[in-house]
Amino acid sequence: MRKNIVAGNWKMNTLPSEGVALVQEIVREFKDNSVELIIAPPFTHLSELSKVISGSAVKLSSQNIAKELKGAYTGEVSGEMLKDMSVTHCIIGHSERRTYYGETDSIIADKIQTALGLGLIPIFCIGENLDERKAEKHFEVVEKQLRVVLENVSNEGVSSMIIAYEPVWAIGTGLTATPEQAQEIHAYIRAFLTQKYGEEKAESISILYGGSCKPDNAKMLFAQKDIDGGLIGGAALKADDFLKIASSF
Ligand code: PEP
Repeated sequence: MRKNIVAGNWKMNTLPSEGVALVQEIVREFKDNSVELIIAPPFTHLSELSKVISGSAVKLSSQNIAKELKGAYTGEVSGEMLKDMSVTHCIIGHSERRTYYGETDSIIADKIQTALGLGLIPIFCIGENLDERKAEKHFEVVEKQLRVVLENVSNEGVSSMIIAYEPVWAIGTGLTATPEQAQEIHAYIRAFLTQKYGEEKAESISILYGGSCKPDNAKMLFAQKDIDGGLIGGAALKADDFLKIASSF
C-alpha cells in the first residue's frame, strides 16, 4: 500500500519565529496517523523546527539541496548539513527552481542522486507550463522530465522517492487542474513507472498533486485513484488550512 502524504512548501515565507508558532500549532493539532505530514520551511528555519517536531509524527523537508557533497560552493547547503538537522525529505526540481534559477533536468538528476546517496527522500517535482498544456504537450513534457532524472535511478532508489506532479499554470495562480485532468496525468506517470520498474514497484510510489490545492478542492483531488496526496504552497502557511487538507483523504 502506498502512503497518503501531504507536504507543505513554505517557499520564502515566514520569519523563523513565525515558523516556530506555525509548526507548534500543527504538531499540537495533528492526530491522524494514516497520513504522512511533511513541512518544508526555508533553510534558516530547519534547525529550530527540528526541535519543535521532535517526538511528533511531523517530518521535516528542505526545499533544495546542493548537488555537491561539500566544499567551496558559496551559498549552498549540503545533504549532510540537512541530515544533521533531522531533515528526512528534500524538494527537488520545483518549477520555481527550474524557472528562476536555471535548474535543468540534468542538474535535478544530479541532486536526486545526491539525496538518494545520503538517504534523503526526494520529493521530485515535474509538470508542464501553460503553453505546453495549451499545445497538448503535457504528457510529452512530463515524460521527458521523468526519463532524464530516472535514467540512473535503480529499483531500490525509486522506492525511496515521492513524485509531485505540479502543473506550473496552477502554482500560486488559484487555477487548479480538475480532478480528471490531474488523474489522467498521474495515471500516465504511474504507467511510465510501471514500464520502467514493474507494476508492484509503481503501485508503491506516492504521486502527489500540487497547484492551488486548498481545503475546498483537496477531497476531490485525493479521491482520484492515482493521487496520493498533495504538495501544498499557499495553504500550507495556515495551520488550519494545512490540517484540513491533510484530513481530506
Ligand atoms: C507549490 O509551490 O508547490 C504549490 C503547489 O503552490 P500553491 O499551492 O500555492 O499553488
